Amino acid sequence: MTLKTPQQYIDDIRKMKIDLYMFGEKVENYVDHPIVRPSVNSMAMTYKLAMDPEHEDIMTAMSNLTGQKVNRFTHLHQSTDDLVKKIKMQRLLGQKTGCCFQRCVGMDAFNAVYNTTFEIDAKHGTKYHERFVEFLKYVQDNDLAVDGCMTDSRGDRSKSPGEQPDPDAYVHVVDRSKDGITVRGCKMHQTGLINSHEILVMPNNSLKDYEKEWAVSFAVPLDTPGIVFIYGRQSCDTRKLEKGSIDVGNQYFGGQEVMAIFNDVFVPWERVFMDGETDFSTMLVERFAAYHRQSYGGCKVGVGDALIGATQAIADYNGVARASHIKDKIVEMCHLNESLYSCGIACSAEGRKTASGNYLVDILLANICKQNVTRFPYEIARLAQDVAGGILVTMPSEKDFTHAQIGPMIKKYFIGKSDISAEKRQRMLRLIENLTMGTAAVGYLTESMHGAGSPQAQRIMISRLINLTHRKNLAEKLSGIQENKEVDWQ
Ligand code: SF4
Ligand code: FE
Repeated sequence: MTLKTPQQYIDDIRKMKIDLYMFGEKVENYVDHPIVRPSVNSMAMTYKLAMDPEHEDIMTAMSNLTGQKVNRFTHLHQSTDDLVKKIKMQRLLGQKTGCCFQRCVGMDAFNAVYNTTFEIDAKHGTKYHERFVEFLKYVQDNDLAVDGCMTDSRGDRSKSPGEQPDPDAYVHVVDRSKDGITVRGCKMHQTGLINSHEILVMPNNSLKDYEKEWAVSFAVPLDTPGIVFIYGRQSCDTRKLEKGSIDVGNQYFGGQEVMAIFNDVFVPWERVFMDGETDFSTMLVERFAAYHRQSYGGCKVGVGDALIGATQAIADYNGVARASHIKDKIVEMCHLNESLYSCGIACSAEGRKTASGNYLVDILLANICKQNVTRFPYEIARLAQDVAGGILVTMPSEKDFTHAQIGPMIKKYFIGKSDISAEKRQRMLRLIENLTMGTAAVGYLTESMHGAGSPQAQRIMISRLINLTHRKNLAEKLSGIQENKEVDWQ
């Protein structure tokens, strides 16, 4: 059985005994914690949709490793069609959850570690690839959620890992024995980390020859001794602790960002996939980043669909849906959202086979995709707030709406279109608030900016990959500065 039910997934996570802190307190049962649970629900949707015959084609795939049907989140892309289906799967999940559903980071890490370890072994005669294949078979057979961890705490940004006053600013190897390695450091901003069965760590950046201790990739179960987790708080998160169901905006789902401190964590050799190969750290980082920059052309588009739907609904509830400027703003939101989708599809369709056999996206186009993602969701959110009106930030709380004396008065003055209840309007406004400035804005906006690398990281890649000499030659031929031998007819 390679597909888990959502309940089996949640039962697995519930068994985890981890060292987790939130709001200065240790948390024992995090799965049922009201701030965490919406994020568990989002991850559970990746399991739920894979069991739905309607979505089987995009949510599942045949494993090239085991020959079994697996959840696409554990799959190695075998074609450009697989890369396109990945984007469609992410758009679907963004639509269904209205937030970050977290499981993509592992999928992107699997594909990058798979093809990079193949190339490390070919050059260095190491055995990382076959170790990784064994790990991934275990992941596929048990339908595990795995968090790919890349971003270190990074200390002084002007210094590389080996130059930092504190070597722990980047995760690194502090000891080796015949049984394995011991690692120390911290991975920050880890999406969906404590909703995962396993953690797959990768180096953060390019490394110099002498920085071998930092060139490390490995996987460990979430409940490995020595890891301390600290839950990242999000704007408006404590609304999830309040009674009622309206002020949270999104009734069921949420994202999750966690800090993980590795206090001398032991990793057995069979789980080590890179140890000292500084010459491959750039490849691993660039490929993981490219896959994850592609991902945003799917997930953010799905969340954008939900926000466009909420904007259309509130325009209707307010009685302005037929105004031409409102229609035009919603068309603009759709144009921006579909432009992002086009980028996600384009870098997938232009993908190529790697030496290991799995497929890699077109790296230039994946960076173009993510560069647009750093901007368009902000404009889509701005237009949503424009259409929704200032009431988005002045509306009384749910408790006021249900108060015996003032509740009926508030509802009287909260009516927009006469056939729409005050509560419907209230709920839709809270959803827009959640998506554009509440907990979901972490995933829809800030993560669009900084996730998978901040905007400048994409611009560096674009400048590296764009062939400007070729373009200059085109212009010089057209202008007659260079001879154009192609025009050889009379
Ligand atoms: Fe997946 Fe998007 Fe969340 Fe990244 S930000 S884990 S791509 S849903
Ligand atoms: Fe992300």
